[in-house]
Amino acid sequence: MIPAHVKYLIIGAGIHGLSTAYHLASALKAKGRGGGEDVLVVDKGGIASGASGIACGVIRNNYYQPAMRELMAECVELWESDAEAFHYHAIGYMQISPESMRADVAQIAAEQQAIGYDSELIEGAEACRKYMRAIFADWRAEGITSILHEKRGGYANNRASLYGLAQKAEGAGVRILSGTEVLGLVSGGNSDAITAVETDKGRISVDQVIAAAGPWVPSIWRMLELPERIDVKDTKGDVHADVPMWVYWCLQEGTLGVEPGFGMADDGNMPPVIHVDTDVPLRSDVDGRTLVEDLWGIYYKPDFNFGGIQGGAAPYLVKTPAESVAVDPYGPDSPEFTVDDRFAETWCSALAFCQKRYEGQIGKWRKEPSGGIGAFTADSFPVFDRFRDNCYVIADSNHGYKMIAVGKLVAEEILVAPSALLQPFRFSRFAEGKLHPVSNSPFPWS
Ligand SMILES: Cc1cc2nc3c(=O)[nH]c(=O)nc-3n(C[C@H](O)[C@H](O)[C@H](O)COP(=O)(O)OP(=O)(O)OC[C@H]3O[C@@H](n4cnc5c(N)ncnc54)[C@H](O)[C@@H]3O)c2cc1C
Repeated sequence: MIPAHVKYLIIGAGIHGLSTAYHLASALKAKGRGGGEDVLVVDKGGIASGASGIACGVIRNNYYQPAMRELMAECVELWESDAEAFHYHAIGYMQISPESMRADVAQIAAEQQAIGYDSELIEGAEACRKYMRAIFADWRAEGITSILHEKRGGYANNRASLYGLAQKAEGAGVRILSGTEVLGLVSGGNSDAITAVETDKGRISVDQVIAAAGPWVPSIWRMLELPERIDVKDTKGDVHADVPMWVYWCLQEGTLGVEPGFGMADDGNMPPVIHVDTDVPLRSDVDGRTLVEDLWGIYYKPDFNFGGIQGGAAPYLVKTPAESVAVDPYGPDSPEFTVDDRFAETWCSALAFCQKRYEGQIGKWRKEPSGGIGAFTADSFPVFDRFRDNCYVIADSNHGYKMIAVGKLVAEEILVAPSALLQPFRFSRFAEGKLHPVSNSPFPWS
């Protein structure tokens, strides 16, 4: 049975919906203003059925944009606060880069020092090689002149962490309703506010809505009658007219089905998550032909959850306009957006480029559908904002499995006051020209 009314209705049982639910319930109780019984999460699938449930699970601070870094530091702290419940592995993270990214990385390192985020910067080709060979004797990636080694961060097990979060939310009295799809948002009366949510199980009247719909966020955007195309003022003051508010990128990930122990550091411990970008051409580990000429990048980690060496490479832009993209069936079930043999060859060759142990291992590539799409905003950074008076939209622009603290900050914004950490992510930045700086990374999320 669906309730006739709820104070706070959250759309989506992914990382953001569940984190918001848990923190909202806890804060309501702490303030003597109610509790989890005032919070309902609805999901058209169930817990972890969206992007959060297929995420690689990497948690890092390494961002070129100061606002992203400050927010990520808050998120890492929350992951660390209950590593067991969140299935979080604090193994650290390494950004390993070519000369064209060195200045950006050095700047990030300096700014991490300024906010007290523990990391080490290694510069120069020889120093980088020596540093990596102290971890893996078979390290051989070329074209590397800087390493940012973040001592915090690492990764978490995607589905297990969401169940941990859901358990906390339910423990605080939150109800999570699976198999319930929001079809429309109802308004009326004297204001623009949303008065009810129309679901496939019936109508629920609401005081507030929090939309955390991940890759489906453009459909909620449409229900809110927000613009599909916007004018974007850049940091120089030039206005770019009629830019699509949403585009999809397809994330390419997969698993090499060796024993995870195969990827351990030489001391027998889990190595940090490795992210390598380089401009040295990538040659096939199968037949030596050139696969990529320009700047390319990969990330990987031994992962007992995925049962192998898991990781990915730069995503590709989905050229179909967002409103025509088939988001469902999602992830591995999609007939359109999973990785192919070409990706397998490229990624496995990239692993072999980095470490000799991966040479000739492509036969162990796990041939199963993997990867998935993410909805990116007009500048590829999140929008965390309130619309129509009482509808809070959490649109992380696919940055966000790691962003577990966003729900906590959103709960504070809803109950107490605006958050300085979320302020740089308002929708108004597009009109005001308050965009985030852009890095030289080949990834749209760095
Ligand atoms: C392959 C892949 C790998 C990734 N790896 C990483 C990573 O390593 N680290 C990282 O930080 N980020 C990663 N990301 C990005 C990250 O997964 C997403 O940014 C994040 O999970 C989004 O969380 P969310 O809660 O907003 O959405 P989701 O987890 O997608 O949850 C949204 C939920 O809303 C539900 N929903 C949607 N519409 C409706 C509706 N109308 N009615 C009811 N329910 C609805 C869906 O069923 C879904 O369960 C990855 C993304 C992909 C695709």
